[in-house]
Amino acid sequence: MKSSEALLLRKRPYGDADYVITLFTKEFGKISAFAKNAKSSRKRFGGRLEPFVHFRARFRERPGGDMKFLEDLETIEVFRHLMEDLELFMWGSFMTESAEILLPKESPNEDMFNLFVDSLRELNSGKSAMPLVLAFQLGTLSLSGYGPSLDACAECGKEAGTGARFSIKKGGALCAECAAGAENGIAFSGDFLRDKELMEIHLGKVLKYIKLFSRFTEYHTEKKLNSSKFIEELKI
Ligand SMILES: [Zn+2]
Repeated sequence: MKSSEALLLRKRPYGDADYVITLFTKEFGKISAFAKNAKSSRKRFGGRLEPFVHFRARFRERPGGDMKFLEDLETIEVFRHLMEDLELFMWGSFMTESAEILLPKESPNEDMFNLFVDSLRELNSGKSAMPLVLAFQLGTLSLSGYGPSLDACAECGKEAGTGARFSIKKGGALCAECAAGAENGIAFSGDFLRDKELMEIHLGKVLKYIKLFSRFTEYHTEKKLNSSKFIEELKI
């Protein structure tokens, strides 16, 4: 039997009684498991098998297969406001889905797990959502090996500097010279992304960057974020 701190990334019904779940565990990374009888008997996991619950999961391995069997859950912390407030729920779901598509299977990433839990906790505590989500995107992209180049030009390597633009395809900032012929460039400032005070004042700009890095994530993982629809429709 194995055990680890974990959060639920995804849950889908399997037959009448079970769920197939994806967990982000602190010690083993992203894993898939059967939660037997979780659907038919809510008692089994006591309503804890939900997003935004930080729990300790115990599971068994199945010889020869990569699916595990979830045995039980013990609650550590519940991020209740994320379940009750629609907007926080959407941001929390976006973060959860982003983490899921960025993580490879069964590859431990403790720093990213800690960033995930800390970010959900801060979101739950009522901190300004968008600067937090943007910091989460940059942190998880970098920790999962997809980090965009923010300061050096992704094309020629010189400092991106004034007049820089961001190219999703090229994987980061482009200096004014290299940006001249590039497609998809949007005006970009690496300095802005480091200035928390400035971000609190210019939330509209923060939202633009969230949309940019959401598209960046989809492009480079070649996976779709379902919750990006909500992000794309948001206006300030
Ligand atoms: Zn350049």
